[in-house]
Amino acid sequence: MKRTGIFFTYFQGERLRDFPQALAGILDKENVSYYDAVYNSRDGLYYLEPVSEELLLKVHSPNMVQRVKLTGDYESALYSAGGTVQAADEIRRGKIDNAFVFTSFGDHHAGRNFYGGMCYFNGAALAIAALKERGVKRFAIVDTDSHHADGTRDIFGSDTDVLHICFCHQDYWDNYNNVDVKIPYHTSDKEYLARMRQELIPRAAAFKPEYIFWEFGYDATLGEYGDKGLTRDCHHKLAELIKEAADNVGHGRLITILCGGSGRAIATYTIPRIIDCLAELSKFQ
Ligand SMILES: [Zn+2]
Ligand SMILES: [Zn+2]
Repeated sequence: MKRTGIFFTYFQGERLRDFPQALAGILDKENVSYYDAVYNSRDGLYYLEPVSEELLLKVHSPNMVQRVKLTGDYESALYSAGGTVQAADEIRRGKIDNAFVFTSFGDHHAGRNFYGGMCYFNGAALAIAALKERGVKRFAIVDTDSHHADGTRDIFGSDTDVLHICFCHQDYWDNYNNVDVKIPYHTSDKEYLARMRQELIPRAAAFKPEYIFWEFGYDATLGEYGDKGLTRDCHHKLAELIKEAADNVGHGRLITILCGGSGRAIATYTIPRIIDCLAELSKFQ
């Protein structure tokens, strides 16, 4: 079994109302560690730390950081991105093998000097900046949110050490490192999973990333705001494939970051199944 870290922060709105209760039967597993921004004094729980301003400024412009401070969501955004940074560091230190990071605010629309779409800071980019300082060199980011990852592309578009594979609504291909996989408005789970296998597995095997980040959005699910016709069962099947890509390169280092999606029922159904897959619990089989 894999050692899986769950990084849990304050959040706003409806979609994660059922958490952490929905993780009953998972949190008590020996190979699952729980990092919580709220209950840091309870036995057996690890404290989730906000990202430092010093690290923020390695990715985002001072002007943008100032603008986020004025939104009123700054602290929450620091914890959201902090979960990803800490997950990467815990993996680097050998404490866990992979991670699921809950967020209030996502990642992939946050660029060097802009933010939008409920994404203030780019947690994956911050984690990569911190890992690079520790000598880690190669990374992959796979993005299954329904929308294009404009922020992530802004930060890593010319970085040949980062493979970025974005499943969205456009076709783009640049020097192999930046790939957009065009998903039509109305696809099926079968077609989407086949595209993932075809686009990710060989590229990851050739690129050999030391860490894989998965920007997991569920907004392409039926009835969601980026509806592409996927069923709620597609996401944990994607988890199996992306985990396979991480295992194939020999280390299994995978960080799953919650990105877009609004429905509470879908989150409550899908997230425990993804964590079940990451931690190899087989609770839902
Ligand atoms: Zn989206
Ligand atoms: Zn894209």
